[in-house]
Amino acid sequence: MVREGDARYRGLTSGANTRWVGAPEYVRLVSSAAEVVEAVQEAVDRGLKITVRSGGHCDEDFTTSDDIQVVLNLAGLDAVYYDEERRAFAVEPGASLGRVYETLYRGWGVTIPGGTCPTVGAGGHIVGGGYGALSRMYGLTVDYLHAVEVVVVDESGRCSTVVATREPDDPHRELWWAHTGAGGGNFGVITKYWLRAPDAGSAEPADQLPTPPAELLVSDVAWSWDDLTEESFSRLVRNFSEWHEANSAPDSPGTGLYSQLKTQHRAAGMFRMSTQVDASAPDAQGYLDRFLAAVNEGTGVDYTVNDRSVLPWFYVVREWFGFVEGSLPRWKAKSAYMRKAMPADQLAALYRQLTRDDYDNPFSMVALVSFGGRINAVEPAATAVAQRDSVLKLLYVTLWTDGSEDDRHDRWIRECYADVYASSGGVPRSNDVTDGCFINYADADVADPALNGSGVPWHELYFKDNYARLQAVKKQWDPRGEFGHALSVRPSA
Ligand SMILES: Cc1cc2nc3c(=O)[nH]c(=O)nc-3n(C[C@H](O)[C@H](O)[C@H](O)COP(=O)(O)OP(=O)(O)OC[C@H]3O[C@@H](n4cnc5c(N)ncnc54)[C@H](O)[C@@H]3O)c2cc1C
Repeated sequence: MVREGDARYRGLTSGANTRWVGAPEYVRLVSSAAEVVEAVQEAVDRGLKITVRSGGHCDEDFTTSDDIQVVLNLAGLDAVYYDEERRAFAVEPGASLGRVYETLYRGWGVTIPGGTCPTVGAGGHIVGGGYGALSRMYGLTVDYLHAVEVVVVDESGRCSTVVATREPDDPHRELWWAHTGAGGGNFGVITKYWLRAPDAGSAEPADQLPTPPAELLVSDVAWSWDDLTEESFSRLVRNFSEWHEANSAPDSPGTGLYSQLKTQHRAAGMFRMSTQVDASAPDAQGYLDRFLAAVNEGTGVDYTVNDRSVLPWFYVVREWFGFVEGSLPRWKAKSAYMRKAMPADQLAALYRQLTRDDYDNPFSMVALVSFGGRINAVEPAATAVAQRDSVLKLLYVTLWTDGSEDDRHDRWIRECYADVYASSGGVPRSNDVTDGCFINYADADVADPALNGSGVPWHELYFKDNYARLQAVKKQWDPRGEFGHALSVRPSA
């Protein structure tokens, strides 16, 4: 138990985003489900507000807000192994994605289609729907969630562990379902995930999860802002998004390609597009060439090739270089699902915001990231992730160092978002073009009526029609409301 005065207290009360610093009564370091039960029981008995941290990568203050009195730190609960009994891979929440990828790959040559940042924790990531570079080929991480072990608190305040599976006859199936995309901090403390493909045929461990490509054809190209006009910039972004509109069906050959177009603010001088293609796909080099040509078509400008190489998949996964060069400790993020290419009004706003003279942070960007493919082979109600027909995910992010500048950076990203979605109340509400937001890129602004003028409540943006079902699970499994944060599921009436 770590309290104020302990040298570890400061380090254990802030997450990766150092703008959020908590002041809990204590931090409990736990390394087994039994310890979690004991720690939660103690907090409940004392009437203390509890939160749980696994990898600490939350964008918002969900584990540091002022009301929190106890932080359960699950970093020590980090095993990854094959569970013969459940015929599934067990992943404990404190395991980083890097550790998950490494253990699965070294032991069995398999993987999960999770996120790109190796230091993100499985704890918050998987329950939030987790997606990454292999998601177009294989779907979301939650499409592989077979079961989950959760420490819950009942009406009388008694804590216990429960295992919920996706088996149709499991009486706890709804609790499993809620863990396929509601985000962390909602129903209890997750102490274990079990992962296995729903259609895994044989009993061999190596058949339970997808096999990653042996090698990737990797490309990194950059455009100079000096070369770009509004017209050529808009053409480029439109080309990128139109390519995704045309090549993101579940069975499209395009699912073997994953790309991030990271349109940084003009202050950066340039912006990059990082792409990877399954190197074993037929004519992978030609496919990449055609993709690059399609993105650049009609812009009248040239790009610089920084990298074009064939690398082992495992190397690419381990050596993630971040979204932008330089890793800065404070940030604010926002997101949007895109069903179609960006229309003219959104492109104009994007250009306007990225070329503003009154904001000069080179570490601010709007990344357009490949989505769709096998993700869209799953029905919206099959998991808690309702967005199953988008072709791109947008990540708005600005990063900085100096705490006295928080307001300046928050202001830019809010104005940028409001401008791009001006025609739909300042948020990417569900319509022909956009389809709401991604809970793993948590953004509490959308719950603020001053910043969300759409009239669409925050939970509809994140969960759409799945919200009522999540509310029912909340009511059943967290009846006392022991768990919660700014964007957590509220119980049904
Ligand atoms: C640099 C960076 C890159 C990212 N890249 C991707 C990406 O490629 N794809 C993607 O999908 N997401 C990505 N994310 C988002 C990331 O998946 C989420 O922020 C995720 O919630 C982080 O999980 P965590 O355990 O590291 O964070 P934490 O801060 O520990 O937890 C996040 C939330 O989950 C809750 N939580 C954590 N552990 C548990 C548990 N065991 N039981 C119950 N609740 C729990 C916390 O209370 C909190 O509300 C990225 C984030 C960052 C900062």
